[in-house]
Amino acid sequence: MLQQTRVVAVLGHYEEFLQRFPTVHKLAAAREASVLAAWSGLGYYRRARDMHAAAKIIVRCGGKFPSNAAEWLLLPGIGRYTAAAIASIASGEAVAVVDGNVKRVLSRVLGEDLAEGELWRAAEALLSQEQPADFNQALMELGATVCLPERALCHACPVIQLCATRGCLKNSRSQAPQHKREIGYALGRKNGSVFLTQRPKEASLMPGMWELPEFQSTEKTALLTLRHSITVTNYLVRVNQATPKKRTPGQWVHRSRITRLPLTGLTQKILRAAKII
Ligand code: SF4
Repeated sequence: MLQQTRVVAVLGHYEEFLQRFPTVHKLAAAREASVLAAWSGLGYYRRARDMHAAAKIIVRCGGKFPSNAAEWLLLPGIGRYTAAAIASIASGEAVAVVDGNVKRVLSRVLGEDLAEGELWRAAEALLSQEQPADFNQALMELGATVCLPERALCHACPVIQLCATRGCLKNSRSQAPQHKREIGYALGRKNGSVFLTQRPKEASLMPGMWELPEFQSTEKTALLTLRHSITVTNYLVRVNQATPKKRTPGQWVHRSRITRLPLTGLTQKILRAAKII
């Protein structure tokens, strides 16, 4: 869950997810739609599908979890960073992690805008062999709470004596550009139900997830207006109270059943704002 999502956004979902799938066996036996529904609101649904697939593999291998980073890397959805994070924290293996926060801290401490391979080498060279779990977590936490992207809080930094730049390193590697888009949705309501439509199974983004049908909306007629960001696009979202046209694909879903469906994060946000869920 913490791949590309901040801790505060994960906290509520984590407890609920564990209550629903308390063991790897329960997760492996679940239907994909139930796993996606429990993941709803966290975004990047590929992670949920990969975790589900990984749980099935673990169960097929006797229910035993991998014991080192090289084994973790063989599971779907586990890359070098995640394998190292799990192996160092769960098994105490001396493997370094490099995530977005670590990249920023290392570049600033060492005073160089380092390329990917150099960052991994630097992290491995600095890693504490005795306490790799604490070292990795401390480095990630430093980036998340003190050495912040826009404003490095150097006055509160425990490694300021070692730092070559103290907040003065300009980031020369370009950030992904942010795009702006406007989008409208129809909120159709009838006898306690809401009209929802399912995204195509072959869609590249959020396949099979449920959402409100799209709708041409204007500022004047909008029932709700909100903002939402997905990867590099900032959306201005307008929602209109509107009955779907006859041929609109989808179905009426009673509000008591809505949260059992895998909803897109934006749909969940809209339905919450409209006090439907
Ligand atoms: S001294 Fe400032 S720039 Fe250097 S690691 Fe600490 S917070 Fe980051």
